[in-house]
Amino acid sequence: MKYVKKIQDLIGHTPLLEITAFSLPVGVRLFAKLEYFNPGGSIKDRLGMYLLKQALESGQLKKGGTIIEPTAGNTGIGLALAALEYEVNAIFVTPKKFSREKQTLMRALGAKVINTPTQLGMEGAIQKAKELIKCMPDAFYPGQFQNKDNPETYYESLGPELYESLDGEIDIFVAGAGSGGTFMGTSRFLKEKNKQVKCVIVEPEGSILNGGEPGSHRTEGIGMEFMPAFMDLSYIDNIYTIPDEKAFYYLKELALRQGLLVGSSSGAAMAASLAEAEKAAPNTNIVTIFPDSSERYISSDIYDEVNE
Ligand code: PMP
Repeated sequence: MKYVKKIQDLIGHTPLLEITAFSLPVGVRLFAKLEYFNPGGSIKDRLGMYLLKQALESGQLKKGGTIIEPTAGNTGIGLALAALEYEVNAIFVTPKKFSREKQTLMRALGAKVINTPTQLGMEGAIQKAKELIKCMPDAFYPGQFQNKDNPETYYESLGPELYESLDGEIDIFVAGAGSGGTFMGTSRFLKEKNKQVKCVIVEPEGSILNGGEPGSHRTEGIGMEFMPAFMDLSYIDNIYTIPDEKAFYYLKELALRQGLLVGSSSGAAMAASLAEAEKAAPNTNIVTIFPDSSERYISSDIYDEVNE
């Protein structure tokens, strides 16, 4: 018999799928890590477990304690799953604009969700979370945007999984960046194994990586309004700034051509991966991440977007 006793034991070891329904140059292969197979439905389940485990081990958090975190939703769901496992209370601060489904799922897992105004962006949620912490001095602030355990999560889990699945045959790694944790941790692991690996970061318009001003976008989960402390720009070999229309175009095409029900950050990752593929030499393996599923954005009418 093969079974688990805790849903949290099913986090990680997600499937890697070869993308075959899009035309690629001869000898170039593209693989996508399907992170929506995690039990909380996203790449951030890994982060939730790792952050709380570290906090409990270091004594910063105790059983029965409380965590407070600003989150767009997926980190909240991951932290809420971890909070159940470790028997702590969770309070999340989320800008109102983020998907209703994600906010509902955080609440379903027992967390309290406080909304901040959309126009104040993630910065507004961070400020509010800091105010709350002042009133609850014993609460733990995981701080995904500055906590070095964020990239460490992916250095320890996602990087090794990708490397093992492809027997180390990875030439290009493509990942979207919200906090940048996925990109930084995985890139560090892959470059330590082989410094020739090209690491490509993906952002929507209205993100600052390309030197632009912070602004609004509909692609959810990626986009930086400020530079997190753990970002090391020397790991970035190329940057793609993908317009919303393109991300939503590929999100639709991934469903139609290959049955993949993925969110808009996956659409952006796909657009960037195809652009890299176009320039790649034969015998190139590209690997990217599809962080979550489209099901949590249905109320945002994502499949109704007009194709390019
Ligand atoms: N895609 C989605 C859907 C996400 O929720 C996130 C996390 N905000 C990311 C991509 C980016 O992950 P990271 O924060 O590790 O850069």
